[in-house]
Amino acid sequence: MKKEINGKTKIIGVIGKNIENSLSPLIHNQIILKHSLNFCYLPFQVAEIDLGKAIKSIRALNVRGVNITFPYKEKVIEFLDEVEESTRRIGAVNTIVNNKGILTGYNTDVIGFKKSLQDNGKFVIKEKKAVVLGAGGAARAVTCSLLEEGIEEVSIFNRTLEKAKKIKQNFSSFFPRSSINIFSFEQNDLKEKIKEANLLVNATSIGMESQLDNTPLPDKKLFHPSLLVYDLIYHPARTLFLREAERAGAKIINGLPMLVYQGIESFYLWSGLKVEGKEVLEMIRQIK
Ligand code: NAP
Repeated sequence: MKKEINGKTKIIGVIGKNIENSLSPLIHNQIILKHSLNFCYLPFQVAEIDLGKAIKSIRALNVRGVNITFPYKEKVIEFLDEVEESTRRIGAVNTIVNNKGILTGYNTDVIGFKKSLQDNGKFVIKEKKAVVLGAGGAARAVTCSLLEEGIEEVSIFNRTLEKAKKIKQNFSSFFPRSSINIFSFEQNDLKEKIKEANLLVNATSIGMESQLDNTPLPDKKLFHPSLLVYDLIYHPARTLFLREAERAGAKIINGLPMLVYQGIESFYLWSGLKVEGKEVLEMIRQIK
């Protein structure tokens, strides 16, 4: 935060359901402090029933913009004036920019996920096979990143098959060279697809702080050493899913790098300032 908040301070923030443990306020306020900017980033805990009212208040209170987090990334779209073209295809918004009362939705999770993988031992997505667990807003962004980078095959597993079906419908015609498979959580399919995969991503909310003893992959024998196992969750830093993957010899990555990289892209949309992602990530790791 800038040392002094005054009449010209631009307000930005994050809207979500359970955001007590969100690291976004820390990340953004550290950037603001480091660059002496007249911005302030606040957490806005919003119940589902109030989401529409909260989005309207962005205009009323002249808030410069917000991040949208779990579980509102898809639902928020109906309350916006515009959605940027590629974000419309993704069907999930994680950033809103307020330009003189016009609210536009963007998705910076796609680039955040890509950059976090490039960082991690330069994992090359092209011509690899991935399994994505989940079909909510985050899974949409992850799938889009993988397809944009030329993945050979992505297999999406979700409790509600209909939601996975919609992702396939959204993306198939845009990425004809990649195959998109969809499944409900069926043990035999999971076993076969994880065996062939190079990357396994948890894009469900299973394992977050309210469900520490839960994992989206109860059969830990399915992990293997040639997998990169990615959990989008960053609180806790090591979910049961990641701990079991590591014990099986897989490489692991949690959601913090993605959070930082998507955050700096959102910050750029609000402020025009480009920040070096690696530096911010290092700064946050030192604080936490
Ligand atoms: P969302 O849209 O609400 O989707 C939640 C997903 O989890 C859905 O696929 C849902 O399945 C599944 N799920 C939830 N509870 C389940 C259960 N008990 N059994 C089986 N499946 C279950 O949420 P989201 O925005 O995609 O976020 C998902 C996770 O990613 C959250 O933990 C979020 O914090 C994290 N995330 C992290 C970053 C980052 O930068 N690190 C970015 C985005 C999201 P159904 O469709 O069947 O309901």
